[in-house]
Amino acid sequence: MTNAVEQLHAVKAKIASAEREARREPGTVTLVAVSKTFAAEDIRPVIEAGQRVFGENRVQEAQGKWPALKEAFPDLELHLIGPLQSNKAKEAVALFDVIETVDREKIAVELSKEMARQGRTPRLYVQVNTGSEPQKAGIEPREAVAFVKRCRDAHGLAIEGLMCIPPADENPGPHFALLEQLAREAGVEKLSMGMSGDYETAIAFGATSVRVGSAIFGSR
Ligand SMILES: *Cc1c(COP(=O)(O)O)cnc(C)c1O
Repeated sequence: MTNAVEQLHAVKAKIASAEREARREPGTVTLVAVSKTFAAEDIRPVIEAGQRVFGENRVQEAQGKWPALKEAFPDLELHLIGPLQSNKAKEAVALFDVIETVDREKIAVELSKEMARQGRTPRLYVQVNTGSEPQKAGIEPREAVAFVKRCRDAHGLAIEGLMCIPPADENPGPHFALLEQLAREAGVEKLSMGMSGDYETAIAFGATSVRVGSAIFGSR
């Protein structure tokens, strides 16, 4: 087994025990394996070990490695977890099965156009900047509920969940709790939260998917 495959199994075991501890149903948390910066040959053993859901943060990088992998493994599910520029909406809609970073009107408009044009309907999440960090993508928490509603009503986009990346230097718990509260207010079910350092905490706060990179693939 490659190191990444061993680490995949270790992460899955920790997710299972976090589910138990949180009295969540076994298997209700989806592991999104974040493969950014790693090459197709590093990713392939992890797919062969059974992992099917992956996350990438750059459209262009993903275009370089995922079309061939998706052809070889048709049941893969690819998530865009990095900021989306409106001029990349076309490529993103063509390649990704889930786009987790809808965070402004212009992106909603472009996605809606491209989805109609291509006849593809990637599932969508709204990214919330729970720490209101100026350098970070995501909609402000106080605007999040209205934005989800506008995506639905003005742009015809079904938003499935919310996503956040808490500030690196803060206790993530309050950010996870805020995201959970906003999801309830907005009437969406899915919560993408938790990374290598805090995915077990995120599961305790209700994460339905965790995005884990370095704990599987090693440091970048
Ligand atoms: C890179 C990245 C991750 C994974 O981070 P790790 O700490 O390596 O697990 C999760 N979410 C987003 C949005 C990322 O860009």
